[in-house]
Amino acid sequence: MSAYLFKNFQMLEPSMDEVRDGYQLITEGGLIKEVSDKPISSASATVIDCGGKTLMPGLIDSHVHVYLSEVSIPTLEKVPLTLMTARGAKQMKAMLDRGFTTVRDTGGADWGIKQAVAEGALPGPRLYIAGRPVGPSGGHSDPRRRTDSKTYSGMSCFCCNAMAFTHNVADGVDNVRRAVREEMRQGVDHIKLMMSGGVASPYDPLDSLQLSPEEVTVAVQEAESFGRYVTAHAYTPEAITRAAQCGVRGIEHGNLIDEPAARLMAEKGMFLTANLVAYYAMRERAAQFGMNADMLAKNELVIDGGLRSLEICKRAGVPVAYGSDLLGQLQVDQSREFLIRSEVMPHIEIIRSATLIGARLLRMEGKLGTLKAGAFADLLLISGNPLKNLGLFQDQGAHMPLIMQDGKLYKHAL
Ligand SMILES: [Zn+2]
Repeated sequence: MSAYLFKNFQMLEPSMDEVRDGYQLITEGGLIKEVSDKPISSASATVIDCGGKTLMPGLIDSHVHVYLSEVSIPTLEKVPLTLMTARGAKQMKAMLDRGFTTVRDTGGADWGIKQAVAEGALPGPRLYIAGRPVGPSGGHSDPRRRTDSKTYSGMSCFCCNAMAFTHNVADGVDNVRRAVREEMRQGVDHIKLMMSGGVASPYDPLDSLQLSPEEVTVAVQEAESFGRYVTAHAYTPEAITRAAQCGVRGIEHGNLIDEPAARLMAEKGMFLTANLVAYYAMRERAAQFGMNADMLAKNELVIDGGLRSLEICKRAGVPVAYGSDLLGQLQVDQSREFLIRSEVMPHIEIIRSATLIGARLLRMEGKLGTLKAGAFADLLLISGNPLKNLGLFQDQGAHMPLIMQDGKLYKHAL
């Protein structure tokens, strides 16, 4: 078992408010074995002199789609599964290069790609997956065109192209139950429900309420019976409130949230995952990648709510995780969320959203997003102090000379 002894660094443990001097940290196998303000001695460990740079835990992005390799979702119909997988592998490596050692996929990634990362066949972040999002006919994840006259179950297969991973359409309590059980049979870590309209789907109004309370309740019951939880795509207070009342644990996006909905979320112990960067990136560049005018018009309805949603959640006490939700060619902007949030939030809180809060959302508190003993040895070395300069997370990992994941040195350019 290889061991590494880190010396001479500024420690950025996100539960503390400032970086600390004078610590040493030793990893053994895949774990952090000890962190101490006294010298650690080890006969066998490889010593890494960090040269005074900042050591922090690996980042967590709680809303990604590694398989959605096109900005325009309908274009996925033209992407074969081999190409989808190859592009996903490239995207995952780029995420790891940016310091994201863990990501939560909220629709698309399956157990196969998760397994590929886990067994070292592909470099990439640890994956926590939703499989296919479950939503109703005509909802955010219904792939059919209006000219398709068949019911969803009567369509010839979507299984030969990347659209296969974007949807699990189910109507009625029994069908939703079956859909949720099927995703869990396929090894998902959480269930994603579509509970309001979305930007990247052409037909469903943003303020539409998707899935009935009965359908959502059965999904939550099934997920909890299996030891999983439900997270819901929702923009409006009405959709968020319905989700909260039915036992959903997480809200994705939530741009149009209001104070009562946020208070209800806080009361129920729920999490919001915000992803403001997606809307800015879509406004700037989605048209060139084929996103149509209807979708871009919906983007304008939510973009201004983004920063306000952060402030509302802060006042109500709702923990907000770091998300990006960037599709296809826009994924290079993944770390820009740090900069956007800094307009309304202190740096340390943004860093916590991408470490401690992400870990709680994944139910991996103490194992991810922290430098404490017993946590996974996912570590970043930063050329400067991110508490003073979030620009250090930009430029595709250029300011991270060392990235360790699971106790292994993925990048070592000191
Ligand atoms: Zn998404």
